[in-house]
Amino acid sequence: MLHPMNDTGDWETICKQCGLCCFEKIEEEDGTIFHTAIPCRYLDVVSRECRIYERRFEINPECIKLTEKLVRELRWLHDKCGYRQALGLTQIRKKRVKTRF
Ligand code: SF4
Repeated sequence: MLHPMNDTGDWETICKQCGLCCFEKIEEEDGTIFHTAIPCRYLDVVSRECRIYERRFEINPECIKLTEKLVRELRWLHDKCGYRQALGLTQIRKKRVKTRF
C-alpha cells in the first residue's frame, strides 16, 4: 500500500487519473450514493484528462482539491480511487455506494 505522503512527498502522484471522481454523483434519501455516467463538462471522457487541469479551481468552483482529510471524509469517492486505495479505505464501506454506468 502506498502512503499518501510518499518518499517524494508528492500527494498528487497517487492519483491514477482515472477520472472517476469527475462524474456526477447522486445521493438518495437513504444515503445511497450512485455514480452516474454524466461527466464534468471539462473532462475528456476518452483520455480521462481534465481539459482545464492547471486552472480547474479557478474556472470550475465545483472542483475540489482532495486532501487526506477530505478523502477520509467524502462518501462519494469511488473505491477505485487511488487515494482511497492508498489510505486503505476501500474495505470500510461496502454498502450504499453503487455505480450506474
Ligand atoms: S477518482 Fe481518485 S484516482 Fe481517479 S482521478 Fe479522481 S482523484 Fe484521481
